[in-house]
Amino acid sequence: MIVEYHRPQTLPEAVNLLRRKQVLTQPLGGGTAIDFKADQPIAVVDLQALGLDTIERQGHLIHIGATVTLQQLMEFPDLAPALVGAIRHQATYNLRHQATVGGSLASADGRSPFGVAMLALDAQLKLLPDERTLSYGDLLALRDEFLPGNLITQVTLNLQVELCYEFVARTPADLPIVCAALARWPSGRLRLALGGWGKVPTLVLDGQGAEGLRPAAQAAFSNAADEWASAAYRSQIAGILAQRCWQRLLTDKEG
Ligand SMILES: Cc1cc2nc3c(=O)[nH]c(=O)nc-3n(C[C@H](O)[C@H](O)[C@H](O)COP(=O)(O)OP(=O)(O)OC[C@H]3O[C@@H](n4cnc5c(N)ncnc54)[C@H](O)[C@@H]3O)c2cc1C
Repeated sequence: MIVEYHRPQTLPEAVNLLRRKQVLTQPLGGGTAIDFKADQPIAVVDLQALGLDTIERQGHLIHIGATVTLQQLMEFPDLAPALVGAIRHQATYNLRHQATVGGSLASADGRSPFGVAMLALDAQLKLLPDERTLSYGDLLALRDEFLPGNLITQVTLNLQVELCYEFVARTPADLPIVCAALARWPSGRLRLALGGWGKVPTLVLDGQGAEGLRPAAQAAFSNAADEWASAAYRSQIAGILAQRCWQRLLTDKEG
């Protein structure tokens, strides 16, 4: 149950509220995923007055404010088409107008297409109060321990990175049973992330050379069983999707 609602006008005010020990206090982005029915009383800090709702371009980089909505991000020019596809797969039109980039990254589970794509793109997050920059992969590894009391203020992406996103689901609008996002840097660096299973998106590899993509994807999902699919099925499909992403990146380059 929400027992307090705050709408701070400055970042220091917001951070002070989030650092309080006595009432469990959480940032409120779009409010579509926050657990209003939590057993313990919670206070929320609405982020909407903090001016974190803009996207700035600086050369090949874009700096995305944490309260930019998924729809706003989708409409940004020059965004990788595959990232647009992953956002579309993440949430319906109405939800995309409400859900924020920060909230979506903070709450992404293993079935989140946006989380998987941002992990592949090696999104860099800026956090307060320590002003530290952290990769999304590092945040996911320690999210439960690290996120309480911290605020994601900005997310940075490199527009030069190409991306392919592929998925298998029961219907085109359903959450993925398996999805793969493969990012390629101009240097040849490749980064593969998988989703459709688990508590958080899975980073499979970060390196050069596509030879190992398929076996690495298969191995990463070799135990990925749940009520939606067996591990044998997921492992097989993960390998196929990883390979398909690679082929698509090659074809797009030639085309
Ligand atoms: C009907 C419905 C259907 C949905 N379907 C899907 C789906 O298909 N796939 C899917 O992946 N999700 C789905 N969701 C979940 C949800 O839409 C997304 O996870 C959403 O993107 C969350 O963003 P938000 O801004 O609304 O987060 P909020 O609800 O505001 O916050 C979510 C969590 O993130 C924290 N948070 C918010 N902003 C920040 C910040 N800047 N820094 C640190 N922590 C922060 C909050 O404290 C909270 O713990 C669905 C939700 C609804 C209501």
